Amino acid sequence: MHYFEYQNGELFAEQVPVRRIAKEVGTPAYIYSLATLKRHYQVFDRAFARVPHVICFSVKANSNLAVLRTFAKEGSGFDIVSGGELFRALKAGADPKKIVFSGVGKKKEEIEYALDAGILMFNVESEQELAFLDDVSRARGKRAPISLRVNPDVDPKTHPYISTGMKKSKFGIEIKRSAELYKKALSLKNLEVIGVDCHIGSQLTSVGPFVDALSRIREYLDRVLVGYLRKEGANIRYLDLGGGLGIQYKDEEPPRPEDYAAALIQGLEGLDVTLILEPGRVMVGNAGILVTEVLYLKETDEKKFVVVDGGMNDLLRPALYGSYMGIRPVVERKAETIVADVVGPICESGDFFAKDREISRPQPGDLLAVMSAGAYGFTMASNYNSHPKPPEILVDGDKFYVVRQRETLEDLIRGETIPPILQ
Ligand SMILES: *Cc1c(COP(=O)(O)O)cnc(C)c1O
Repeated sequence: MHYFEYQNGELFAEQVPVRRIAKEVGTPAYIYSLATLKRHYQVFDRAFARVPHVICFSVKANSNLAVLRTFAKEGSGFDIVSGGELFRALKAGADPKKIVFSGVGKKKEEIEYALDAGILMFNVESEQELAFLDDVSRARGKRAPISLRVNPDVDPKTHPYISTGMKKSKFGIEIKRSAELYKKALSLKNLEVIGVDCHIGSQLTSVGPFVDALSRIREYLDRVLVGYLRKEGANIRYLDLGGGLGIQYKDEEPPRPEDYAAALIQGLEGLDVTLILEPGRVMVGNAGILVTEVLYLKETDEKKFVVVDGGMNDLLRPALYGSYMGIRPVVERKAETIVADVVGPICESGDFFAKDREISRPQPGDLLAVMSAGAYGFTMASNYNSHPKPPEILVDGDKFYVVRQRETLEDLIRGETIPPILQ
């Protein structure tokens, strides 16, 4: 569900013609719909209304300050994976008591920053991290609230690059070793054990793997942990089930948040914990588009290419995962349908938005909208081939705001110097 719709053959972002925004800010440009962002948060939050819960939006999906601010104002917490994301969340007005810190490679400075900010908890991913976190906390005169990220070894049936909860994954702690590590955590004076965490993958299109992960953790909790941890005086108050709910890019039929919530809530029965959820994609994916302009139509005997001014530097998903992204004309025109690759200007054959796509024959100057680009879009953008990063625009009803300026050529070389020996 989103607010990008056609009116008289022309694509609108809420009440603003996309063409008008493109004319004013240029292309390529990301456009987000405020009403869609709010709606997604509210639908998700309402789905879990029956149980105590904290929603921690996964900052890596879209870390623009205005987007984070939107969620903070709705009451959202945040799931961060770096000190940089903590900085952004705090700048956006996040409540530190609703921030969880995930990731396999937390550095000393990042841990200190999060301890000083007073976050809700650290999701610890290895034995060494546990000991290190204790050391850093002691030196800081603090106690770090922690959960262990356990790896329930379920197959989320998604792209291998975004499967994170299987045995061979670098993420989390093998579930059968977790009792041992909980024991260790309890023996460390500067840690406070408060939760269990897992995150099995991204873009999941059925509830099965979530339910399986929950039941594996549940079985484990009931059998081993709760009795033992209670005896040792630990109080597991939080169960963090991560993110991962998928969205529709093409013809997927992901579960609705209501169904996802119902399945999880059922699996929680009788457990006295506050649920933490870390949705990313489902919050922002369909709330954003990337608008790009057609530069050339290139035809060979073999193939047709629509060359556009946005590329893998702006939106990496097709190049990285071979993902399907919907592509729509910003202004519909009557033209023959052709089959073409939609490609960018980057000097890589992996630089494409679509392969062998049926598309109505565009002309140079036409605008195309890459749909569902709000998640893992701008956050994965780079300056490869020295293209300035695109602007980000937030639409609210009939108004729009530039919430990140297009980078300039000067931005490209900021921080670089030519040393005296070369002068
Ligand atoms: C990426 C990530 C998420 C968000 O995943 P989505 O599929 O975008 O919902 C949540 N938690 C952790 C630990 C992550 O790494």
